[in-house]
This record gives sequence, C-alpha cells and structure tokens, in this order.
Amino acid sequence: MQVVAPSFEILDALDQQSLAVRIEACGRICYKSEDKITAASAVPFIRGIIKHGHNSVTEMGVLTLRIGCPDASLAAGFFRLLPRYLVVDEPAAGTLLITGSVRAFRELYMNHAEVELVRAITGFLAARHPLFYEDMVAAAALPAVAGVTVAKVPLAEVDTLPTPLLARHRHLAVKFIVNRAITHEIVRHRPCSYLQESQRYCRYDGDKFGNQVTFIKPLFYPEGSVEYRLWEKAMRETEALYLQLLATSSPQAARTVLPNSCRTELITYANLIEWLHIFRLRTSKPAEPTMREIMIPLAQEFKARFPAVFAGLEIEA
Ligand SMILES: Cc1cc2nc3c(=O)[nH]c(=O)nc-3n(C[C@H](O)[C@H](O)[C@H](O)COP(=O)(O)OP(=O)(O)OC[C@H]3O[C@@H](n4cnc5c(N)ncnc54)[C@H](O)[C@@H]3O)c2cc1C
Repeated sequence: MQVVAPSFEILDALDQQSLAVRIEACGRICYKSEDKITAASAVPFIRGIIKHGHNSVTEMGVLTLRIGCPDASLAAGFFRLLPRYLVVDEPAAGTLLITGSVRAFRELYMNHAEVELVRAITGFLAARHPLFYEDMVAAAALPAVAGVTVAKVPLAEVDTLPTPLLARHRHLAVKFIVNRAITHEIVRHRPCSYLQESQRYCRYDGDKFGNQVTFIKPLFYPEGSVEYRLWEKAMRETEALYLQLLATSSPQAARTVLPNSCRTELITYANLIEWLHIFRLRTSKPAEPTMREIMIPLAQEFKARFPAVFAGLEIEA
C-alpha cells in the first residue's frame, strides 16, 4: 500500500487546447487511460463517448458565443426555453452572451430544434465542430437565420468581461487528488460538472497503479501516533482483502471493501460564481478539516487569478 498527501491542479493549461482534446483529457480520468492519448485519439474517443451515452464527458468542453439578434421576438423565443444548463446574458440590446458545454449545446438542439435562434447557434457550431453534431445534424441543413449573427468569444476576451459577466461566464476545471469522503462532499455542489476515477474500471492490482491500493494521508492522526498506527493497520488489512477478492471477482465487486481513505481523482468544472459559493462553504470553520486542507490553498490561487471576482472572499485561518 502507498500513502500520499492530497493535492489539486487547476487545469488552465487545458483551456488553451481544442474542445476535443480537453474532453478526451478529462474523460480518460474515469478509466485512468491517459496513457492512450495520442495526436489522433481524441476523435475516436469522443465518438465512442457519444455512442455509449456517457454524455457527462462532453460537459468538459465549455465555450462562449456572442449572438447578434436585433429582432427581440427571436431573443424572446430563446429566453422562453429557460435553458437550465446554459449561462445567458444580454449585455446590450440585441446582443446575447451564451456560455455552455458541448453537452448543453447538443441537447439544446435535440430538445428545441424548432426554435430559430437554436437553429442559428447549432448551424454555427455544427460547421465549426462537426464532430459534436455528426450523429444528429449537418451544418448544411441549418442555413443562417436572417438578421442573426453568431460568433465564438475567445477565452482571452471572456477574461476581460466586466466582473459580474466574468463571474458567470468564465469556467475553470480543477483536478483534485483527495480521499473518497472528500469527493463525496464535493459532488454535492450541483451546478458543477464532474468526472471521477472509477473503482469499477480501475484494478489497483495492475501495473499502472503499482499493484497496490493508494490511500490519502489522514489529516487527523500524526504519523507515529497510536491512532495513525491503527489507521495504517486497517488500510493494510483492507488492501489485502481487496487484492484477495480481485483474484476471483471483478473490480466493481472487490471495491465494496475499499474505505473512505482511498485516493481518488475528481475533476470539477464550474463557473467562477459557483467556485465562490464552494469556497465560502468549504473554507469556513465548520467545514470538514480535510476539505479545508485542500480548499484554502485552492481558493487563494483563485483569488490571485481573478481578484475582482474573489476579492470579497474572506478565508478563515
Ligand atoms: C459544513 C457543512 C456541513 C454539511 N453537512 C451535511 C449533512 O450533514 N448532511 C447532508 O446531506 N449534507 C451536508 N452538507 C452538504 C450541504 O447540505 C449541501 O448539499 C452542499 O454544501 C451543497 O451546497 P448548496 O446546496 O448550498 O449549493 P450548490 O449545490 O453548490 O448550488 C449552488 C447554488 O445553486 C442553486 N441551486 C442548485 N440546485 C438547486 C435546487 N435544486 N433548488 C434551488 N436552488 C438550487 C442555489 O442557489 C445554490 O446556492 C454540509 C455542507 C457543509 C458545508
């Protein structure tokens, strides 16, 4: 068995990559198959994901569009949809700013193909990213809508939006390496997208896991203390039982003996306003100490990157 400290990584380098590359990089966390990434692997990976309906993976690519729509009745038709998984603002009369994931835009068309603005948005996206629409519609079937313009807003431009719009439209992904108790708490935050290493698919007796189970060092027990030794004994015995079960059963069966202390990877993708909400709850004194251990330094990094959005966040020591 191995014991490691918790950690996090802000995935902003991925933001500079194409949507397909971002989606594949995040999606492979479930299977821990990052070693299979090549220059040509994103397209077949995404086709497989869509075919198998593992649609949450396509939430890992987010983009912002600026829609020119001087015809108020077209905009009103769109607003009536109350799109739950898109961030929509009207920064100026006749202009809409819409941010969402590949999944949200795909399902917008699946559910509302009759709405003109939806057809205009989908026509633009299907021309630019045919991979994400090849299973449902071709761009050629969606001619431009008179009077409507659709343009992608580059991330560098999103970063210059006025603070309230920046907070709503800017999304950022974080990869956590923490124990399973902590990921169980993080995933209670509903406006986020998540992908997590799967104990159903990952066999910890395999070479890529060092043929062992990895646990997160418990914050509560100093190394060498009586309690730490008890914890260590419990983990060692559990690992032995897990490996024994793996000899005759599948990882999804054997994992039923694995404890909260197990190391796991979780990608959490949210807009800045939701991160602010998470930090308020998860860095405060009543939060679980192991959660604070990771969320306090993460919140400080967010504060440094987006001072205007996080200026009011007070972090209790
Ligand atoms: C110190 C602490 C102790 C906790 N103890 C427990 C516990 O004992 N048991 C337990 O079950 N949970 C517990 N929780 C989890 C807690 O109840 C929330 O599920 C979790 O913190 C998610 O936060 P949230 O609901 O405020 O917002 P999020 O899910 O992060 O949502 C953000 C915002 O979206 C909106 N929103 C999202 N979904 C809805 C919805 N369906 N309806 C209306 N508005 C919505 C709200 O405006 C909300 O503020 C605890 C959390 C903390 C921080």
